[in-house]
Amino acid sequence: MLKKISLFILIAMLFISACVPGTPSIPDPDPGKDPGTEDPNPQPEPEPEPDPEFDFALYKPNELGEIPIWMYHNIREPESIWVRTPDNFRADLQRFYDLGYRLVSLTDVITNNIDIPAGTSPLVLTFDDGSANNFNLLKVDDEIIVDPDCAVGIILDFAKKHPDMGTAATFFVQLPHPFSQSDSWYTAEHRQWKLEQLAEWGMEIGNHTLGHKNLNKEIKNLDELQEQLGKPQYLLEDLLPGYKMNALALPYGARPKAEWRDYLHQGQYQGVKYQHDVVLLVGSVPAKPYNHKDYSPMAMPRVRASNYPDGGAKDFLDKALARLANTRYISDGDPDTITVPESFLDKLNADSLEGKTLRTYNLEETSRP
Ligand SMILES: [Zn+2]
Repeated sequence: MLKKISLFILIAMLFISACVPGTPSIPDPDPGKDPGTEDPNPQPEPEPEPDPEFDFALYKPNELGEIPIWMYHNIREPESIWVRTPDNFRADLQRFYDLGYRLVSLTDVITNNIDIPAGTSPLVLTFDDGSANNFNLLKVDDEIIVDPDCAVGIILDFAKKHPDMGTAATFFVQLPHPFSQSDSWYTAEHRQWKLEQLAEWGMEIGNHTLGHKNLNKEIKNLDELQEQLGKPQYLLEDLLPGYKMNALALPYGARPKAEWRDYLHQGQYQGVKYQHDVVLLVGSVPAKPYNHKDYSPMAMPRVRASNYPDGGAKDFLDKALARLANTRYISDGDPDTITVPESFLDKLNADSLEGKTLRTYNLEETSRP
């Protein structure tokens, strides 16, 4: 049964990945277009190189702009401060897509490997707590299928209709029972299948500590801290041998006292080492990219993906998108070149380029008569 699903999904993913390079879309996302139809005669995408032919005015690349790392929790009914309904999550993806955002993995952000078409903007999806509604299986007529209303099901379905959106997401699970379901038929084999499938889809597993404690208030000593941080990696070794969780999402966004903070980055538990290359906060602002002088991987902000009906202070999603209209990262389509408007050059950390080519431009100068 599981093999059947795997095969189907594998074929679906081959289809999706085969479609990505040739998909022209940007920078003119057309919300009116039927999402189910594809242009049978796609225009070839302009190559970003050679340099003089790159259309700066068309794409307005800014690879020092901000990247939203959205923080979701539950995907179910009804909507509340930590819950997004399936329909609202679908609408979020459509909105992001129509605005020109494309999914990238957290690993791509922290390794400076953002590879999306010119004119599009990167966006990271994260889900905390690893509830079953993040990745739920249904038994329908003896077939096991991915619940179309769980987070994973919604992302995969969206990518089927919009292959260039991608399927990257990070799930901050609690081990050893990620996405635990209470159905009587649900076994350890199903749980294992979920973990292995995530990797196949380019989705990532992140650390959310062992017991979801407040690391600032509830930790008594260093051993306890390393158990909270390191035991999840220790437990994952049994489930996915060799898989290294490179990201930590802090419960409540709480960091331990200053002299223990290095242990957020690395340490060990029972001889098993852990290393987090990014530590995520619970915040309300988008993140700075790798080459920005204020890039802060050990305290990376996230935005709560919530439109709580009272608006106001909890309306993080609308507020962040409004801010990003002016500040967002816009790709030049080439991961080896970092393109920056001249007016942003003072935000560059030149030491972070590490062999990538820096390219700057000034539209005002070239557009003057
Ligand atoms: Zn949590």
